[in-house]
Amino acid sequence: MKPATFDYVAPRTVAEAVEALGDPGREAQVLAGGQSLILEMHLQRSRPELVVDINRIPELDRMSVEDGELRVGALIRHAAFEAADAVPGPLGTLLSRAVVNIAHPPIRSRGTMAGSFGWAHPASEWCAVGVALDATVEVTGPEGPRALAARDYFLGPYRTARGPRELITAVRMPLLGEHTGVGFIEHRRTHFCFAQVAVAAALTVHDGVIGDARIGLVNSADRPVRARAAERTLLGAEFGPLPAGRRLPDTHPFARAGRVAAQEDAVPVAEPYADVAYKRQAVAVLVGRTLREAATDLRARLAAPEGDHR
Ligand SMILES: Cc1cc2nc3c(=O)[nH]c(=O)nc-3n(C[C@H](O)[C@H](O)[C@H](O)COP(=O)(O)OP(=O)(O)OC[C@H]3O[C@@H](n4cnc5c(N)ncnc54)[C@H](O)[C@@H]3O)c2cc1C
Repeated sequence: MKPATFDYVAPRTVAEAVEALGDPGREAQVLAGGQSLILEMHLQRSRPELVVDINRIPELDRMSVEDGELRVGALIRHAAFEAADAVPGPLGTLLSRAVVNIAHPPIRSRGTMAGSFGWAHPASEWCAVGVALDATVEVTGPEGPRALAARDYFLGPYRTARGPRELITAVRMPLLGEHTGVGFIEHRRTHFCFAQVAVAAALTVHDGVIGDARIGLVNSADRPVRARAAERTLLGAEFGPLPAGRRLPDTHPFARAGRVAAQEDAVPVAEPYADVAYKRQAVAVLVGRTLREAATDLRARLAAPEGDHR
């Protein structure tokens, strides 16, 4: 199919983009990487009257570290995070482990992190990482700029708290401290499918005890989920040696957290190849494995020579 007829503008500044989006008489869509929007337009599931192409706005093509946070401008492509040292510390490791699960290289070279937040697909890796880390979505519209917490931003599949005339200018994520280990594991049918379930985790340990745990669930509900009930079971747990063998004993805190995430945090939606029971089982197993990966990452980080904490 071909897209329905639409008008096209390519503003050079954020102010011009906001002005174009601000016309209440026309349904407008922002074009960033186009890796979701163009497909939807071809299928005519999306029929914007106006496409606002933001690719010629240099101020959106910037990534920086400010006040302990990574600020990712709206034109930063997925591929920018593939190298683990693109972003400092454990956050860089987490982003690099997550990004390789997004589609394949041509899509990663065009698609943007902010576009994933704009699209708000329940299987988006970035959106679950954002919810787990308490990311902030910066938007600006006719009423001016505002900052939305990721926990309040996602309202359901493709539905967010962003207004239809607001542009995402950046996504901010906290840099994670040296005593934090990270993991990301995804389960999907074939290499290029969206995740059936995936898990992002960050564990922070002080004096041999887990002081903070962050777990984000991908495609385990109608929106990205922070597994708070599972996180609570980990707080204060001893950060002991990991058991030998691939399978965690049922009594291990990571296995227990997995079961709690599956039963109390996940609200799975059935898909053709994954019913609700299957997804709950996948959440239970993947949460345990991802926490284990985070613990292994932290051990390696703590054992690394001073100044080499990647
Ligand atoms: C074959 C295939 C496989 C894929 N697999 C995955 C996957 O495994 N995981 C995954 O997460 N994604 C996947 N995607 C989607 C891809 O990651 C997209 O890049 C992403 O969803 C959107 O980014 P984009 O920059 O391409 O946005 P676009 O396609 O340009 O826009 C998507 C939507 O977000 C809105 N939008 C974009 N930027 C902004 C902004 N700055 N402000 C306001 N609204 C904005 C647009 O208006 C539109 O509604 C896949 C896509 C394809 C085609």
